[in-house]
Amino acid sequence: MAERFKNYIGGKWVDARSKETFESRMPADWNNVVGLFPKSNKDDIDDAVKAAKEAFKEWKRVPVAKRGELLGRVGDLMVKRKEEVALLMTQEMGKVIKEARGDTQEGIDTAYYAFGEGRRFFGKTSPSELQNKVAITFLRPIGVAGLISPWNFPIAIPTWKMFPALLAGNTVILKPASDTPALATKLVEIMAEAGFPAGVVNLVHGPGSAVGNAILEHKDIGVVSFTGSSEVGRHIGSVCGKTLKRVSLELGGKNAQIVLDDADIDLAVEGVLFGAFGTAGQRCTATSRLILQEGIHDRLVEKLVKRAEDMKIGKPWDESVDLGPVINESSMNKILEYVEIGKKEGAKLMCGGYRYTEGACKDGWFLKPAVFTEVKQGMRIEQEEIFGPVLSVVKVKTFEEAVEVLNGVEYGLSSSIYTKDVNLAFRAIEDIDTGITYVNGPTIGAECHMPFGGTKNTGNGHREGGWTVYEIFTEQKTVYIDYSGKLQKAQIDVSIEK
Ligand code: NAP
Ligand code: MG
Repeated sequence: MAERFKNYIGGKWVDARSKETFESRMPADWNNVVGLFPKSNKDDIDDAVKAAKEAFKEWKRVPVAKRGELLGRVGDLMVKRKEEVALLMTQEMGKVIKEARGDTQEGIDTAYYAFGEGRRFFGKTSPSELQNKVAITFLRPIGVAGLISPWNFPIAIPTWKMFPALLAGNTVILKPASDTPALATKLVEIMAEAGFPAGVVNLVHGPGSAVGNAILEHKDIGVVSFTGSSEVGRHIGSVCGKTLKRVSLELGGKNAQIVLDDADIDLAVEGVLFGAFGTAGQRCTATSRLILQEGIHDRLVEKLVKRAEDMKIGKPWDESVDLGPVINESSMNKILEYVEIGKKEGAKLMCGGYRYTEGACKDGWFLKPAVFTEVKQGMRIEQEEIFGPVLSVVKVKTFEEAVEVLNGVEYGLSSSIYTKDVNLAFRAIEDIDTGITYVNGPTIGAECHMPFGGTKNTGNGHREGGWTVYEIFTEQKTVYIDYSGKLQKAQIDVSIEK
């Protein structure tokens, strides 16, 4: 009998009001059920908002350094439980154990970053335009934050949202992806153990259509932070527009790595293998396109295809495995559909692109990594996010053409260029229209203390990570203090006092 998990509302572990449940299964072994989770709806969100709103009254008064100390404690507990969390991630989400440790580590780093920010939650001080008057700003919390997260970074992304929101003095409701509810539960268990007051941290499981929508429509939620697909992001943006909520959207990508003729070819192959097939291509920053200058094209493709064919596919908890499964059956089918689309469009499939069921892999959603060459600008496999281990190679003549192809998509998350020419590297940094650019490194590997996000349809202009995420979760309060003892009129009393 599968273990039954609960929501966390107002400091208590509770079932969904409906008492209904849904299953989470292992992508590497679909017959295995990780657990049963509450299938919540609007009623549970109403309960969580009530608890979060009540808790906000006190939580916002806790000094920010003290809130930071609690997050530091969360970091300490995550360090202790890192291996346990990573192992669960291989089971529930399916990324390989090394990457699962990395995902967990990103959560730990985010906790310690927030701990530090608790001692530098600065506003600004400015002289006034009038005498005997000063102007200052404070950062204040917004209230209740509704946080909706995807399954592909099941620990890191919830921490990116929850920790800064909490440090800033908001109370939070997390609605995690339905594919990874056990991991969200594990994280919230750790947070409960760290000792947050009841109602400060709330967790509500359930389908995006019911639970997610209830968050968007609730009048007492002041800010929504969402990471996921552009399709759902558009819906969220429009509902939050109607209800005038602040909303931060981190959406899809169609990231590319450029390799110029002068690049270190082996370094570039190493980079694209990790960028394209790490996490089975299911990173928002995954390398989905490889743009090769014609002089290096054939040699690089030959090395790359050989390495892709040699990648070891298997159970993600096995230390020697390179490539785990994709998240679920419908995702696998969508990826395989794109392989068919690529073939029909006239691209050449050099390797992979089919389901792998040998040995231990028979009951999971495993795919052989695919490399397409002869991909032309404008083909669907060159334009659309596939979110799986499929790489499209485009051949170009010049640096300028490479940048034009890279920029010619609706997304703008991550990008990379391999070259030894420092002039071209700097021109690429300037000309590439993405939120993140790597020079001589793959398109993946963001660090938690730097801004993270993209241009164009990748989002709506916010940046998570680093110091910038705090802008999402705070209101600026501007204060003027007049110590002149008389009425002074800004813009009207313009003459300088003699
Ligand atoms: P998704 O299908 O958009 O789901 C994301 C979250 O939204 C899930 O919690 C989902 O709940 C919820 N949701 C679904 N419908 C909703 C609705 N109508 N109202 C409110 N919430 C709703 O995305 P995914 O498949 O989990 O993740 C993959 C996508 O995320 C990719 O497109 C990837 O590029 C993107 N991503 C972007 C970044 C970034 O920072 N830019 C990072 C990681 C991933 P259910 O699970 O219950 O459906
Ligand atoms: Mg599952």
